[in-house]
Amino acid sequence: MTRLDSIRAAEAKLLLPTYERNPILFVSGEGVHLIDERGDRYLDLLSGIGVNALGYRHPAIEEALLRQGRAIIHTSNLYYHEGQAELALRLTERTGLQRAFFANTGTEAWEGAMKLARAHAGLLRSEGKQIGTKFLALEQSFHGRTFGSVSTTHKAKYREPFGPVVPGVEFVRFNDVADLRAKFTDEVCAILVEAIQGEGGIRPLSKEFLLEARSLASSTGALLVIDEIQAGLGRTGKWCAYQHYGIQPDITTLAKPLAGGIPLGAVLCTEEVSRAIHPGMHGTTFGGGPLACAVAIAVIDTIDRDHLLENATQVGAYFLAGLHSLAERHEAIIDVRGMGLMLAAELDSADLAKHVVGEMLKRHILINCTSDTVLRFLPPYVLTPAHVDTAIAALDEILMAHSAAAHGALAGGETNHG
Ligand SMILES: *Cc1c(COP(=O)(O)O)cnc(C)c1O
Repeated sequence: MTRLDSIRAAEAKLLLPTYERNPILFVSGEGVHLIDERGDRYLDLLSGIGVNALGYRHPAIEEALLRQGRAIIHTSNLYYHEGQAELALRLTERTGLQRAFFANTGTEAWEGAMKLARAHAGLLRSEGKQIGTKFLALEQSFHGRTFGSVSTTHKAKYREPFGPVVPGVEFVRFNDVADLRAKFTDEVCAILVEAIQGEGGIRPLSKEFLLEARSLASSTGALLVIDEIQAGLGRTGKWCAYQHYGIQPDITTLAKPLAGGIPLGAVLCTEEVSRAIHPGMHGTTFGGGPLACAVAIAVIDTIDRDHLLENATQVGAYFLAGLHSLAERHEAIIDVRGMGLMLAAELDSADLAKHVVGEMLKRHILINCTSDTVLRFLPPYVLTPAHVDTAIAALDEILMAHSAAAHGALAGGETNHG
C-alpha cells in the first residue's frame, strides 16, 4: 500500500464525504509548481482555487510567517496589535473604500457584508427613510457555504438540502437589466453581485448591468455589495474587478488570495455604511489576527514591488490570446473569456470538460472545471509566458486527440451502416 492509498483509505472511513479529491498527495511546492510524494512536479494553474497568488514558498511570505510566528500568533480582538490598521490602510487605499472588518474566510466576510447591509437599512429606517430588508442576488452566483452566504448562492444543490435558508433573497437573471429593474423596489436593502462570477463560470457582468445596479441602489439608499473574494486583490490586473467598470460599491469583500494561503477575509465599506455598526454588534475570535495580517501585508507589498498587477494583465492577455487561437482550431471550444489571470474556455460538453481536466492532470498540469463545461484557469500572479505556452500546447494536443478519436468513431459508424 502506498502512502497515498493508506491516506485515502483512512479518509474514506473518518471524514465526512464532502469532497471528491484527485488521487494525488502533494508534499511541497516551489514557484508555480507543486511537488507530489514521488517528487513529480505539476504546473499549478489553479493556485488552490485562487488562493496562492504568489505561488509556493515565496520568500516574502516565508519571511513574514517566520517573523510574526516568532513574535505573536494570536491576541484576540480584545487588544491592539500592529497589523490590522496597517492592512486596512493598504486595502482602503487600493479599493477606494474607507473602513475594514477582518474575518477568517470568504463566506464569513460575505456574512459580515450581508449583516452590514441589513443594519444599514435599519439605521436608514430609524432616520425615517422608506427601505426594506430584501436582498437581490444573481443567478449563477456563488457567495459561500454558511447560511447567509448559501441563501444568496443560486445553485439549488448548494441551498436546497439545508432549507429553510435565510429568507428575503430574490434572484435576478444574470446580466438582464430589465429583470433587475423589475425586481428592484424600495423593499430592497442591497444588490449583491460578483463583478465577474467565479464558480458560475468566469462570467463578467456587462457594463450596462453593473452601472444600472449602481444607479438603482443609489436612487433609494440601498447598497451595492460586490463580492471580490475570487476576482479581487489583483487577479484581474486591478486591485478589484469593479475597477474595470469605473464604479464604486458601498461594500466589498476579499478573501482567497488575501494572506497568501493563511485564512483571512475582509469586509470593506464606505464611511456612510460604517455608521450602522457599534461595538459589540459584530465580531470574531480569530479574524484579523497578527499572523494573517502580517502575511497579507507582505502579499500586497510584493504585488506592488514585483509589478504583479502588470504581470497579471500582460501574461493574462497572452493566455487569453492563446485560448482564442485554440478556439479557432477546435470547434469543441464554444467560448473563451475572462480578465487578467481569471480565465475560462467553455466546451460544448461536460464529458469533454472532465476528460480535458483528467488529461491535463496526466500531463502534470492542474486546472479545474466549473459550471460543468467551463475549464477554469486561476494561476498564480507570478506566471510567465513560458508556462502559458506549456498549457496551451497541452490543451491543443488533448483536443486534437479527442477530435481525431471522435472522427474515427464517426467513420467507424458510417462503415457499419455501409
Ligand atoms: C470562494 C468564494 C466564496 C467563499 O469563500 P470561502 O473562503 O470558501 O468561504 C465566496 N464568494 C466567492 C466569489 C468565492 O469565489
